[in-house]
Amino acid sequence: MKNKIKVIAFDADDTLWVNEPYFRETEEQFWGLLEDYLPRHSILAELYKTEIANLPLYGYGIKGFMLSMIETVLRITEGKANPEIINRAIQLGQEMLNKPIELLDGVEEVLKALHGKYKLVVATKGDLLDQQRKLTKSGLDHYFHHIEIMSNKQEKDYQKLLKHLDCRPEEFLMLGNSLKSDVLPVLAIGGYAVHIPYHTTWAHEHIEHTIEHPNFYQMESLFDVLKKLIS
Ligand SMILES: [Mg+2]
Repeated sequence: MKNKIKVIAFDADDTLWVNEPYFRETEEQFWGLLEDYLPRHSILAELYKTEIANLPLYGYGIKGFMLSMIETVLRITEGKANPEIINRAIQLGQEMLNKPIELLDGVEEVLKALHGKYKLVVATKGDLLDQQRKLTKSGLDHYFHHIEIMSNKQEKDYQKLLKHLDCRPEEFLMLGNSLKSDVLPVLAIGGYAVHIPYHTTWAHEHIEHTIEHPNFYQMESLFDVLKKLIS
């Protein structure tokens, strides 16, 4: 792999920095707003159902999540919610949009070591403005040749990215925490993929089966990537 790769693409959320735990924390505050109406698990199930139904309309990210929280409040309260509950749901989302960036272990060291040896890019889903904000706040943007904020991470989305980078699939390595989004579509188009799991994964990103593929590597941390690519 090492001698073929020219471009290394990093997923951002839960690969470069903490993301999913903020959603879990917000959900815990969200259900508390509606505890007079339904039990916790039912409120969270309603929210999840709303998010999934809205994904094709809103895409991934916090703004869509906020709209789904509001819609869930209105449905659960049958349109009779105290406006204060809706106001609180909006605040919860705004607090998420203002979170500081917490880099994951080893990110800075690994980017520094790979920089100049490979073309480094970010390939992430999410809201355009929010991902730009996070990248700027992270202080990592100078390591990257290109930032691709994608509405989805399917085969055609990766093909578009490779075309833009003028990169052949066998020269492309994707690193990320989601087998569904960061690994499977990249292997399917002939690229290399490294899975670095994170302790918290959104239910929508779960897949059940294990992957066996000559271009696939399962790793514990970003440091293992360095060992594989620079030695
Ligand atoms: Mg991720």
